[in-house]
Amino acid sequence: MALYNEQRLKIYNSMTGEKEIFSPLSEGYVGMYVCGPTVYSNVHLGNCRTFISFDLVFRYLKHLGYKVRYVRNITDAGHLENDAETGEDRIAKKARLEQIEPMEVVQRYTIDFHNILQKFNNLPPSIEPTATGHIVEQIETIKKIVEKGFAYEVNGSVYFDVFKFNKEHHYGKLSGRAIEDMIANTRELAAQSDKRNPQDFALWKKAEPQHIMRWPSPWSDGFPGWHLECTVMSSKYLGEEFDIHGGGMDLKFPHHECEIAQGEAATGKDPVKYWMHANMLTLNGKKMAKSTGNNILPTEIFTGDNENLSKAFSPSVARFFILQANYRSILDFSDEALKASEKGFNRLLEAVRNLDLLAVSSSSSFSVEEWKQRCYDAMNDDFNSPILIATLFDAVKFINSVKEGEGKISETDKETVKSTMEAFIFDVLGLVDTTVENTDQTEKLSGAVDILIKLRAQARENKDFATSDQIRDQLLSIGIQLKDGKEGTAFSFE
Ligand code: AMP
Ligand code: ZN
Repeated sequence: MALYNEQRLKIYNSMTGEKEIFSPLSEGYVGMYVCGPTVYSNVHLGNCRTFISFDLVFRYLKHLGYKVRYVRNITDAGHLENDAETGEDRIAKKARLEQIEPMEVVQRYTIDFHNILQKFNNLPPSIEPTATGHIVEQIETIKKIVEKGFAYEVNGSVYFDVFKFNKEHHYGKLSGRAIEDMIANTRELAAQSDKRNPQDFALWKKAEPQHIMRWPSPWSDGFPGWHLECTVMSSKYLGEEFDIHGGGMDLKFPHHECEIAQGEAATGKDPVKYWMHANMLTLNGKKMAKSTGNNILPTEIFTGDNENLSKAFSPSVARFFILQANYRSILDFSDEALKASEKGFNRLLEAVRNLDLLAVSSSSSFSVEEWKQRCYDAMNDDFNSPILIATLFDAVKFINSVKEGEGKISETDKETVKSTMEAFIFDVLGLVDTTVENTDQTEKLSGAVDILIKLRAQARENKDFATSDQIRDQLLSIGIQLKDGKEGTAFSFE
């Protein structure tokens, strides 16, 4: 029997504001869509927090035995400078400033995004579609929405008619906004725009002559509105209705509200069963953001090269810091907090390593099965990683007590603690024991140097001193020193 039948997962659904028992549309399979990055600059740690939060979700669903199709898009067109749908495309602007092709911008920052997430040990999604790769599908969806009467064309642009939609459906149901309040709060003047109402949003925009990212369509040479790509790519790869849609809290409105409206307008179906929103990472109490410059880049954390940091921290420590907070809580970044996380993480890893050394007894002084279930209970409660980590520390205390000769552990319990710790720390939380990784690499390096030492000895036997000196000098130039002695040749890393 699959683990998901024994462990009843609950997910906080942003649509209902309640934790609901997770029951996917088709048993054993989960379709999950998460809004990906707009690739016009390096991802900051705030972006990474959101992607690490959904990596945790992906990993736990897989751990429970679900077959998960995880789709996360790359926004490489259509995201304008501000959400009022005016201004330049973010990618085109960067291309103009750096005098390179927009697709060079896209390539550069997509590679950066992948590299960084790999360092954080995020699993790659099952499908990673791009907006520019789905222009045809986006045009088809616009046609459908126009046919159903929920969109209109003006001067080569197509807008979604929010008022018309709201008569039959509910625009604002995710964000809890009433359309009347939206009207009262709007700053956009109707006279400045082709739209019938300021609340309407673009499905297709006619490109100004200077706009370089453009495609032909029945309405004009132009480009799709930002909200549309997610509707199109989620339905293409997961179906018109799917299980989980995620993203950062800041995308709830207007982006996700518009996605629901587009989906319902095109198909008559509410596309998403469970909406999940990850909360923001802040720096000095303010949201980390690309636009304000109030952010820290992951590479600055890995090198320590940032005025907010006293030292470098490994990707796993930064990931541990992020997972020590609930994904739905705001988390403030600080050097102090990272240092505390580093200490905690090391204590956790040390306990896992100590486990092997523990002497076993005929019984245990700790209720291991109950503890194991508490680990699951934490994750079943809407992926509550801080509670899971606190529960893992209960085992750390126990392991240390056995080590000190105060507690006792049976053979089978030792196995259970080991497999449970490893499953949760490495598979579910996705942390990496970098000390093990380093030891492993050091062993390989030592093996390689030994091979070179043997080759050098052979060269000397053959009186080929040029080669033997070359091996010694070149090793020295990369910081590996050979020392000849009576017992043979030893080496040291400088
Ligand atoms: P963007 O590239 O701006 O579209 O953002 C990519 C993802 O990062 C989105 O899901 C955002 O909601 C998320 N995000 C942006 N800023 C933060 C932040 N300070 N903390 C957490 N997530 C963020
Ligand atoms: Zn999206």
